[in-house]
Amino acid sequence: MHPVVTLVGRPNVGKSTLFNRLTRSRAALVADFPGLTRDRHYGHGRIGPVPYLVVDTGGFEPIAKDGILKEMARQTQQAIVESDVVIFLVDGRAGISAQDHDIARQLRRAGPTVLLAVNKAEGMSTGVAAADFYELGLGQPYAISSAHGDGVAELLDKALAPW
Ligand code: GDP
Ligand code: MG
Repeated sequence: MHPVVTLVGRPNVGKSTLFNRLTRSRAALVADFPGLTRDRHYGHGRIGPVPYLVVDTGGFEPIAKDGILKEMARQTQQAIVESDVVIFLVDGRAGISAQDHDIARQLRRAGPTVLLAVNKAEGMSTGVAAADFYELGLGQPYAISSAHGDGVAELLDKALAPW
């Protein structure tokens, strides 16, 4: 079975942009992966000899505003259960938000393999971009730019190192 890498994070941090960069065939057949659900987008990618499945969460249906927090928690929980690696995206320009803290708490409690990616870091010094995010308690933050590609290969190498 291919390793499953799931992208989580609050709306607008760049999950779908990263998903598009990590996948070449965007419409993986959900039917090929029993147990995976339909409220996310699945795609295939390959790095060197290692094929992987990427899961994009969030934002496929309009959700009432007061439902977003609950929905994020639900999708994060599901990601924890069905993934080999979770990539938790935050916005390096916006800084840490309360929603980031909520998701981080959930991920720390569950203890899956998590990589913290500080997105939108193009043109920023990687040290400066990442520094604030240590306080989420998920280890080293990786500065990336989903839009431009900076740091993405390194992040993926790290995520898939066990494979
Ligand atoms: P999602 O809601 O987490 O899926 O976020 P999207 O992928 O839809 O991106 C939200 C917004 O952030 C869009 O306007 C993207 O163009 C922008 N964005 C995504 N990645 C980057 C990045 O690396 N740098 C910058 N500057 N903007 C980005
Ligand atoms: Mg999205």
